[in-house]
Amino acid sequence: MSVWTKTRTIYRLARANPRGWPSFVWNTGLAQMRRVGPLMAPVHVSIEPTNACNARCPVCETGKDEMHRRKGLLDKQAYEQFVDDICGTTNSLMYYFMGEPFLNKHAYDMIRYARERGIYVETCTNGDFVDAKGVIYSAINKLSFQLGGMTEASHRRYRVASSLEKAHKNLYELIEERRKRPESNLQIEVGFIVMRHNEHEVPEFLRWAEEIGVDIANVVDPCVRNMLEGYAYLPKDRKYWYYDEAAFEQGILKPKVVPDNDCVWIWNSIQVNWNGDAVPCCRDPNGLHVLGNVFEEGLMRVFNGARAREFRRRILTDQGSIDLCRLCSGYGMPTLVKRQPASFSVVHHTASEEKSLAVAQAADEAVSGRLSRPPKAEIR
Ligand code: SF4
Repeated sequence: MSVWTKTRTIYRLARANPRGWPSFVWNTGLAQMRRVGPLMAPVHVSIEPTNACNARCPVCETGKDEMHRRKGLLDKQAYEQFVDDICGTTNSLMYYFMGEPFLNKHAYDMIRYARERGIYVETCTNGDFVDAKGVIYSAINKLSFQLGGMTEASHRRYRVASSLEKAHKNLYELIEERRKRPESNLQIEVGFIVMRHNEHEVPEFLRWAEEIGVDIANVVDPCVRNMLEGYAYLPKDRKYWYYDEAAFEQGILKPKVVPDNDCVWIWNSIQVNWNGDAVPCCRDPNGLHVLGNVFEEGLMRVFNGARAREFRRRILTDQGSIDLCRLCSGYGMPTLVKRQPASFSVVHHTASEEKSLAVAQAADEAVSGRLSRPPKAEIR
């Protein structure tokens, strides 16, 4: 990028004045100068409402029961203190990581808490526990329903213990609820995780998404963790592949684009687990690279701490040796969203008692590992 282009970009950012833009300019500048710090606060934060889930997806550490971390739920009070701490500098918050966010019974209140402090918030869900009124109340900016198929059978080949019927019902209720609240700034996305067993359903998915009136239809290229999962789940149509086809033929799983000692994303973002432990990014589901605990030490001590600096140094000098980066192409720079305060007020969270009870029971089972075992997904 030429000096002129850089100056013009900074000028435009300053005029638009989205929250966190000075940090973004500083941190991105240091990444480009290949300096590990000192950084200003990250503009993007991901936080994990829980690492428990009901769906048992076979390509997910939580779903496979291969999560090395203890299962638990994000504590509301710790979260609120954390949000108070970061709200002056955080532009966007991803309220999601290795579990189903709406298994946390405080999800709607937590999202609203960040929204009232001017942070853009989004999340992803399998849809089973979404409460339409709760979502509208939360004032969340974007909610993505990630579905596994167009029929119950194909959905459950991947979303093994989830229910397409429930997800659809909750999605339709949400679309209707938003229709009644035109002042809502909610964007509704439906994602279709395209895999070998459902790729023929993609055209039907796109037609359906347009018909029902969501804002975004997203055909999601699948992630796998190893070759065996690749054989089982990657679509036959390779336009849906994130992975290098020639390498795959040689028995090697790697992305089409391999970053070369470079990842500007982690100069601008941090991933916080439910217990406050921070890891560099969402490619560390098992917490192998804990940088510190933000609930105990505060965000900036962790983000500029010795472990974070050392991790960034390894990114710049020896990224090929970092396990996390093996299957990642990097995420580029976060998008800065112009400030969007909660645009309307709803006094009470009106989730139905029946739904609240179902959530509490499912969360209890998922956290304690007492989920009833569903039949194994068939693999073609
Ligand atoms: S896994 Fe991806 S996002 Fe994480 S540090 Fe490596 S390249 Fe960056």
